[in-house]
Amino acid sequence: MLEKVVIANRGEIALRILRACRELGIKTVAVHSTADEDLMHVRLADESVCIGPAAAQKSYLNIPAIISAAEITDAVAIHPGYGFLAENADFAEQVEQSGFTFIGPSADVINLMGDKVSAIAAMKKAGVPCVPGSDGPLGEDKKTNLAMAKRIGYPVIIKAAGGGGGRGMRVVHEEAELINAISLTKSEAGSVFGNDMVYMEKFLETPRHVEIQVLADGHGNAIHLGERDCSMQRRHQKVVEEAPAPGITEQMRRHIGERCTQACIEIGYRGAGTFEFLYEKGEFYFIEMNTRVQVEHPVSELITGVDIIKEQLRIASNQPLSFKQEDIKLNGHSIECRINAEDPDTFIPSPGEIKRYHAPGGPGIRMDSHIYASYKVPPHYDSMIGKLITHGETREVAIARMQMALEEIVIDGIKTNVELQKRILKDPNFQKGGTNIHYLERHMFGED
Ligand code: ADP
Repeated sequence: MLEKVVIANRGEIALRILRACRELGIKTVAVHSTADEDLMHVRLADESVCIGPAAAQKSYLNIPAIISAAEITDAVAIHPGYGFLAENADFAEQVEQSGFTFIGPSADVINLMGDKVSAIAAMKKAGVPCVPGSDGPLGEDKKTNLAMAKRIGYPVIIKAAGGGGGRGMRVVHEEAELINAISLTKSEAGSVFGNDMVYMEKFLETPRHVEIQVLADGHGNAIHLGERDCSMQRRHQKVVEEAPAPGITEQMRRHIGERCTQACIEIGYRGAGTFEFLYEKGEFYFIEMNTRVQVEHPVSELITGVDIIKEQLRIASNQPLSFKQEDIKLNGHSIECRINAEDPDTFIPSPGEIKRYHAPGGPGIRMDSHIYASYKVPPHYDSMIGKLITHGETREVAIARMQMALEEIVIDGIKTNVELQKRILKDPNFQKGGTNIHYLERHMFGED
């Protein structure tokens, strides 16, 4: 097992990684910015190193500072968490070149999946179903592009190969808009992502977001932990997630899960990863792979009993997977509500001091959060301050437990989205299950 790990992240995920390390007897090094000295995991870590000022660019994204921290503390590996440098192939490469283990896949695989055009090509080759599209970058020839869109059928979406965070995409409803949309997306992609390659896909109008969690050990073994439904989104940000996804049968799960594990083996995947799909009319369409642990990983943990972070640490220690596919049995239902420090109506972030904090409890309740009474939420980072996760033998029980937990939770001093989460949990269509990715914006907020 790894002896000492640098946790190159902050907030709830840093604490989550610290707890997994503790369970496995791994020593921890917290690296933090000057604004984050009071983070819970910084207090709990065996060692801590300040790596720079509050601005993430100078601290959590500062590759030399993080690698130096690993050197001076004699750590052997670096866990990137999610966000920040987690999907940065240069970081993975520099970590490995400096003699440390990067807890994640190889830099080559991060690069392959980071470019959406190469990711789709690799997935098609591995038999993973993709959205009908251009199957490669769009060229300059207008006639070819017009014919392609006609063949795919409008509406189509033009997407940047290097896009991310829901940016670098443009939906085209009719032929007259196509050529202009391609050149606009191309020039934007060039200036924002430094790569002007764009491609075309069929635009699916009312899909759900369903994703498959995988674990692969890099020794030819890969398993999946079933799917999660993350369709409750605002501005492409997930708000509520659950597992399993309502309406997905065991047969569909097995079929798509096998395609994903097969793809992991073909691309030489190592670690935890997620295949994201749009799901419409009974069909899965691959959109991208996340080569890291995800915010919503706990819902898969609660229905499978697998600790995803501990598996990441074991895989990074070169151990084979501790489970086979047939060992994975789904048990009950799990829901996660993201708790954000923000105004529930305007969504404006609400940093500041938490005056009182009470975490909910009881059977099937898990609170993953770094906050405590008197903790000051800094204004410099993402507004997510925790995740409330429930588990129950059925979806109804998981919902009832979430509703109780949202009533019990107390976070005073700052604004949070707890009231919004209560509204979602009470919504009859959410309760029915299976709403699409536009539901929250269009039907609950009347936005479009
Ligand atoms: P990013 O890396 O920026 O998150 P994705 O490819 O994952 O980009 O797409 C982000 C979101 O954009 C999806 O969750 C979905 O809401 C929408 N989207 C992307 N491709 C399509 C498509 N072909 N049809 C409909 N919606 C799409």
